[in-house]
Amino acid sequence: MYAERVLSGMRPTGRLHLGHYHGVLKNWVKLQEEYPCLFFVADWHALTTNYDTPHIIEESVWEMLIDWLAAGVDPSQATLFIQSRVPEHAELHLLLSMMCPLGWLERVPTYKDQQEKLSSKDLSTYGFLGYPLLQSADILIYRADKVPVGEDQVPHVEITREVARRFNHLYGREPGFEDNAREAVKKLGSKRARLYLDLRTRFQQEGETAALEQAHALLEEAQNLNMGDRERLYGYLEGSSKMILVEPDALLTDAARMPGLDGAKMSKSYGNTIFLREDPDSVTKKIRTMQTDPARVRRTDPGDPEKCPVWQFHQIYSDQATCAWVQQGCRSAGIGCLECKQPVVDAVLKEQAVMRERAQPYVDDPSLVRNILADGCERARKLAQETMRDVREAMGLLYS
Ligand code: ATP
Ligand code: MG
Repeated sequence: MYAERVLSGMRPTGRLHLGHYHGVLKNWVKLQEEYPCLFFVADWHALTTNYDTPHIIEESVWEMLIDWLAAGVDPSQATLFIQSRVPEHAELHLLLSMMCPLGWLERVPTYKDQQEKLSSKDLSTYGFLGYPLLQSADILIYRADKVPVGEDQVPHVEITREVARRFNHLYGREPGFEDNAREAVKKLGSKRARLYLDLRTRFQQEGETAALEQAHALLEEAQNLNMGDRERLYGYLEGSSKMILVEPDALLTDAARMPGLDGAKMSKSYGNTIFLREDPDSVTKKIRTMQTDPARVRRTDPGDPEKCPVWQFHQIYSDQATCAWVQQGCRSAGIGCLECKQPVVDAVLKEQAVMRERAQPYVDDPSLVRNILADGCERARKLAQETMRDVREAMGLLYS
């Protein structure tokens, strides 16, 4: 129930580019080897800013899934699904909205930032304000304990932790909790029970987080506990209420920032992108016409790689020897700009050839993607329904 689990999503707002590959997808491919992972298409999140262009979302969903598969996301390792196909996310979002103070949402930095950045759109909407809370529901519904995010998204994980804490505090209370928890400890068997209480003391008195982790692992292994006792024992470690929702941690991914063709961050709004599965001729042309150091007008003028966007590409794509060749050749006017670009062209095309090859079966037969998705949605939904059963029970909504 509190097994390690990674959750991450991406908004279907257009075609994916190399920025998404280097910034996000490569990390997912790594994570899927290390943890059970859930990756979802955040179509409702896309609607918060693109509510006036739903057709873009619809078109992007399938292409994005193919891009994920092309990048090496493996459906036999990770669960892939679409947010709106698991409507329990919306139910949890609604229930959390009852107890989430408005100030928590208004204070999230991305709220004002994005409103200013996307000033051409009216984002003074209920849905846009609630965006981080929907994200909280996405995370909490799977009891995911690890959320890979960049620096800017850390406040969203923080609000999720606060929401979980508040929820557990409000709805995890029961009369006689202490007695019930102590009864539950006995059910662990005498040896485990002793270890559990020892770890609990070490966490509560010494603040040893390693002890807390060890206690979580102990509970994870204890097969014979029912759901209620399990929640009590998790809660008893830290406080005086059941732990129904799990506080997640941010899994900080080092800020890989993929530059675009002009050296600014690659982004579709800047028109400086190379798409993940772009046609090789078009990629070659884009790189060959990329800007270089503006001071290098003639072939004989020496250049400065620090002022050249192509150098940023070399730093991502080239080995040390090639980088040294660029530095030396550019500064001495020993090589021309087209010559300098060729290894980048080759490396990008090579990277993309693998991706195109992986994508081909799915392009040829879209039913393959549909099946992967149906399977993933079903798995995700089962997990979500388990959590919602506990949530409804805790809030007195079972009426059984
Ligand atoms: P774009 O920025 O092209 O408009 P988008 O707005 O649909 O794309 P974002 O929400 O900006 O997508 O990004 C989705 C994810 O991809 C985020 O985690 C973001 O950090 C990452 N990402 C986007 N562009 C880049 C980039 N150039 N380098 C690294 N990561 C990136
Ligand atoms: Mg963007």
